[in-house]
Amino acid sequence: MEVEELKERLFNNLSNYTQEEKTEIEKAYELAKNLHSKQYRQSGEPYITHPIEVAIILSEMKADKDTICAGLLHDTVEDTDITLNEIEKMFNKDVAILVDGVTKISKLNFSSKQDRSLANTRKIIASLTEDVRIIIVKLADRLHNMRTLQYKTEFKQKENALETMEIFVPLAYYIGAYRIKNELEDLSLKYLKPEEYKKAEETHLMVQEDSKKCLEEMLFNIHTILNDNNIPNEIKSRTKNIYGLYKKLSEGNKLEDIHDLLSLKIMVDEINSCYLTLGLVHSKYNPINYRFKDYICNPKTNMYQSLHTTVFGEDDRLVQTQIRTFDMDEIASYGLTSYWHQNKDAAREKMQHDLKEKYQFFKSLTEINTTFGDNQEFITQIKRELFTDKIYVYTTKGDVIELPIGATPIDFAYRIHTDIGNSMIGAIVNDDKVSIYDELHNKDRVRIITSSVSMGPGKDWEENAKTTNAKKKIREFNRK
Ligand code: MN
Repeated sequence: MEVEELKERLFNNLSNYTQEEKTEIEKAYELAKNLHSKQYRQSGEPYITHPIEVAIILSEMKADKDTICAGLLHDTVEDTDITLNEIEKMFNKDVAILVDGVTKISKLNFSSKQDRSLANTRKIIASLTEDVRIIIVKLADRLHNMRTLQYKTEFKQKENALETMEIFVPLAYYIGAYRIKNELEDLSLKYLKPEEYKKAEETHLMVQEDSKKCLEEMLFNIHTILNDNNIPNEIKSRTKNIYGLYKKLSEGNKLEDIHDLLSLKIMVDEINSCYLTLGLVHSKYNPINYRFKDYICNPKTNMYQSLHTTVFGEDDRLVQTQIRTFDMDEIASYGLTSYWHQNKDAAREKMQHDLKEKYQFFKSLTEINTTFGDNQEFITQIKRELFTDKIYVYTTKGDVIELPIGATPIDFAYRIHTDIGNSMIGAIVNDDKVSIYDELHNKDRVRIITSSVSMGPGKDWEENAKTTNAKKKIREFNRK
């Protein structure tokens, strides 16, 4: 696409920004364009197309003005003669900090064993909790690079795709940006396993074709019912993304047993309408009882909110129905940035506070940073705790707790409350008494047995705990 055309697309997305903000973004655009003027991408396009595309992704995410400026300027310090100081003078400190953060994170090497590089890696990861917008610019940068990966060598394609899967997909999940996570997953699979991707893509198309009538009919019926009840709404249908399909099928599931193969997303005006809608949907389509989840009362650890219910739809097909407000949907698509956008009247401190209190990822990151002095240990723990697959287990009240794979009842107990951990004498998982060292599994229902005369955590508890939270609490107890 032409540079001018791209620029127009960016500014079309900025209708909610003030004139002053737009002028600042225009200034960043002109500067980046001049600085990159003699550079080209491997596709042959002028280099500036890349920073504009990154800025477009950021504007779709409702990022603030400084973040969009940083998106436009993110490659200038690395690839041109301008310095951070000059950027700070022309814009402000925040823009400079963001550009600096993105430049540094691009040089990260997770596999290096040298301590100097480890120390550096640690500093950069720890800095993410200071200004999370660095991750957001980096995610937008990676997304555009993945979209244009066909111009790179096969080696580079595989290397980038693997890193995307290991680092950026989890990051997108942690900030709750599902739309970006899904796209990154599909693009990674395409380059990592081309054969499998092709097969899953064909299945995906087949499912889309095959379910079209069923979903259209349900969409129409529910839309009519909601309109009759004066609930403003918008409904979208979708089928599972290609990577999700590939994963489910490669785990041995049959297509017809995947409960969220088909889904309807129902967006309504306010929280009360969500519950009304739920009742109306159930009166038309029979739900599978055990599939109902209330993430509005119990948001996921990345602040995802929605009601989930799987129903028998037209032709008795399973259809996952997601019900949420328009605001919740914006957060579910683009995550943290939309959350900020919606709370913009509140002070920035409140946001930073919410970030550290509500988002599990940042809590864990901060804990790991304060608990592990040794850089190698820090990196190992980050990988083990944050960048591995998760399991989800239930409390007896039905709350969902997210833990890293390999977690034990010890981790569970300390996640609930320090006192529960310290007075634990046993655990019951799905009605069976188990050892507190046993590994927990997805969907386990866990009850911790405590006693007021317990001796507190034993010497070997720490090595049987997976989470930093539990390790830290055990150390603290034994120090006393
Ligand atoms: Mn870039």
